[in-house]
Amino acid sequence: MRSQLTKQIFTACMIIFLMSFGLIFYVWNSYLARRNLSELRDKALYLSAIATQNGWEFFQDTNISGQGENTRITIIAPDGSVLYDSVVPAQELPNHSDRIEFQQALQDGQGSCERYSESLLEKTVNYAVKSGDPEIILRVSAEKDTIWILLFRMLSPMAAIVFFMIILSVLLAFFSTNTIMKPINHLVPENPDDRNIYDEMKPFVRRLIVQNQQIHRQMDQLQEEHKKQDAIRREFTANVSHELKTPLTSISGFAEIIRDGYVQEKDISHFADNIYKEAQRMIVLVNDILKLSKLESGSFEIQNQREEIDLCAVCAGIRERLLLNAGKLGVTISCYSEEAEIRIMGIANLIDEIIYNICDNAIKYNQPGGFVRIRIGRERENSEVLVEIADNGIGIPEQDQERIFERFYRVNKSHSKEVGGTGLGLSIVKHGMAIHHARIVLESKEQEGTCVKLYFPG
Ligand code: ADP
Repeated sequence: MRSQLTKQIFTACMIIFLMSFGLIFYVWNSYLARRNLSELRDKALYLSAIATQNGWEFFQDTNISGQGENTRITIIAPDGSVLYDSVVPAQELPNHSDRIEFQQALQDGQGSCERYSESLLEKTVNYAVKSGDPEIILRVSAEKDTIWILLFRMLSPMAAIVFFMIILSVLLAFFSTNTIMKPINHLVPENPDDRNIYDEMKPFVRRLIVQNQQIHRQMDQLQEEHKKQDAIRREFTANVSHELKTPLTSISGFAEIIRDGYVQEKDISHFADNIYKEAQRMIVLVNDILKLSKLESGSFEIQNQREEIDLCAVCAGIRERLLLNAGKLGVTISCYSEEAEIRIMGIANLIDEIIYNICDNAIKYNQPGGFVRIRIGRERENSEVLVEIADNGIGIPEQDQERIFERFYRVNKSHSKEVGGTGLGLSIVKHGMAIHHARIVLESKEQEGTCVKLYFPG
């Protein structure tokens, strides 16, 4: 019996069987004891009627004994002295005034008492009745087996019954285990069916069904996600090839006409400059692609430690680096901080890249005489740190505002190329912000300007 379930059922059966057996035995024994006593009382009453009619000496004369070989009659005077005994000569017996049945009978008319032998194997049941004139106490006694001797006598039939119980319990345990386990063993985890299962198992099967549904849903979602990722990857590859092909075609074209001698000596430096610019464009593009793929793969986070960064110093440094470019385009750039130092935890070069890209866009997509204003502050309500970059440039049409964070998405492709854009700047910003658990809010109106708000957890 190795199975836990079988063992438990077997134990339960045995407990029930043995308890029932014990209880039945106990009830049966109590019933027998009551019956013995009532038989003894009947005998005592019957003999006392004889004594009343014939006087107690009648017993002495006839030397009558109790009916049945182990019934003993004793006649006791009210002072406790024994007048007659059917087994031992009366004069050899001590005074019986201390016997309980005698005392009860003297007081109430009738009395009984059980006394055990020293070995506890036998007991004497006594019943005493007061009768006659002059008054005497007639006592009838019988030797009876105690429960222990009864048990001892019934040892072999009881052993047979217990053995039978064990066999029955084992069979019941095996049978019940099989019945319980059958529907469970037939349950298919991938496709559970609660129709053939019993009520107790239904909540478990339902949980299994719900879990299966969840797994299916998650698998569908994963497949969907996988398909989406695949499509994005294919689109990205196509875009990268296209973006690289344009400058390469130009470089190849310039080189070809120089090689074939179509360019005059004085124009060569001009053509070489074009080749240089296109190659530079390609380098910028490839660098941006590499940055983006690093951010997406998560390797950027692993390679760079988070540290405390003072955003005021970062923004001031970016302003310095962009001053020259801004000046060339006739754009002013200012930086204002609400506090002397505002610190956040982050990856320093990524934070610099994010703010730099946004400021660079604010200059690139501006107009001569325009401004770029950087403001660093704190949001009082939720203790976030805010970096706000506002410009009064060309603005972004409403329908494009959602999409400018997509890779290679530009509102005006030729303008972007003219100002040296790759279409990847805001994608890098979006990923960088996500790594910092920061959020970005864009407000823009065409021909009025753009305001980008970067909220970092404080
Ligand atoms: P790009 O390299 O072309 O600048 P970005 O990803 O940085 O690429 O920006 C995507 C597009 O969003 C830009 O091509 C431009 O059309 C638009 N854009 C971004 N910032 C601004 C801004 N401050 N004002 C107007 N348009 C902007």
